[in-house]
Amino acid sequence: MRASQPRGAARSPRSASQRDYLSRVSLSVRFLGTSASRPTVERGVSSIALVREGETMLIDCGEGTQRQMMRWGISFNVGDILFTHFHTDHFLGVLGLLRTMTLQGRTEPMRIWGPKGAAAIMRRAEGLGVERLSFAMTVHEVTPGVPIARKEYAILPFSVDHRNAMAVGYALIEETRLGRFDPEHARALGVPEGPLWGRIHKGEAVTLDDGRVITPADLVGPTRPGRRVVISGDTRPCAGTREASVEADLLVHEATFGDEEEARAKETGHSTAREAAQLAHEAGVRRLALTHFSARYSRDPSDLDREARSVYAGPVTLARDGMEIDVSYPDAVASDSTTGRREA
Ligand SMILES: [Zn+2]
Ligand SMILES: [Zn+2]
Repeated sequence: MRASQPRGAARSPRSASQRDYLSRVSLSVRFLGTSASRPTVERGVSSIALVREGETMLIDCGEGTQRQMMRWGISFNVGDILFTHFHTDHFLGVLGLLRTMTLQGRTEPMRIWGPKGAAAIMRRAEGLGVERLSFAMTVHEVTPGVPIARKEYAILPFSVDHRNAMAVGYALIEETRLGRFDPEHARALGVPEGPLWGRIHKGEAVTLDDGRVITPADLVGPTRPGRRVVISGDTRPCAGTREASVEADLLVHEATFGDEEEARAKETGHSTAREAAQLAHEAGVRRLALTHFSARYSRDPSDLDREARSVYAGPVTLARDGMEIDVSYPDAVASDSTTGRREA
């Protein structure tokens, strides 16, 4: 029955070069849970949906994540779930989510990623209950510094410092993009719109019907860096996160505590908002989002906001459940693009 189910067929195919000058690749982060350790009235536990050009992956999957996905319009057509570590507030939600996917008759494989120990934990999670999954699930244990290669981008796991937990953060790093193609100039030079534009854009010199040779240098600007989004997971401020975050377009860093609980942050392997912001400052990130707040800040995290802003001059966002951040290109004109469809 379920074999004939069509999925993901809606996207219209375009060549890479067409896409590059006609539109931009979307990339956004949606916070599904922003509370540390336990849910509160206002906040669920950790999960973030990373959506790139229609492809959805989850970073962590705390209890209740599936309901947050429904609420905030995140597709269940998730291909990858990446775990930063296996403290229960980061992964209990995967049990229910996998069941629901089975009820829906999912057949597409699911790829699970996590630090050492992921395979054993996921095997136990899969065996709970009596129903069998309707799809194949593969579990991959990541090695910090060894990227997961994807088309047009890579996911780089990096080591973090979360007491004695096996824990990693993840950086999504896009490939360098082609330079900007100048369509006006192309028309002015009489280069006919169509496949020729794409060939020039990709670096080829072409000969026009009248014998003139048009080289990429005539019409294409310098290559442009792709975007970098870094998600720290639970951690003390550490070299791993700092190195992964150099000039990141967005750093999502945990900020479990405020200044007044600095000692507790050290003791429990977490960060204060100020420490996270200090790291963002040192790494020169373009934008900082803080999440994973201790319950005492659940309703009013304004202290964390103030403490972070005192050491980091860039834009600071305090995540709320359901908030979305569009990640703009480094060379984009518009700077602030938080669209967080807000609920009262
Ligand atoms: Zn946590
Ligand atoms: Zn933890």
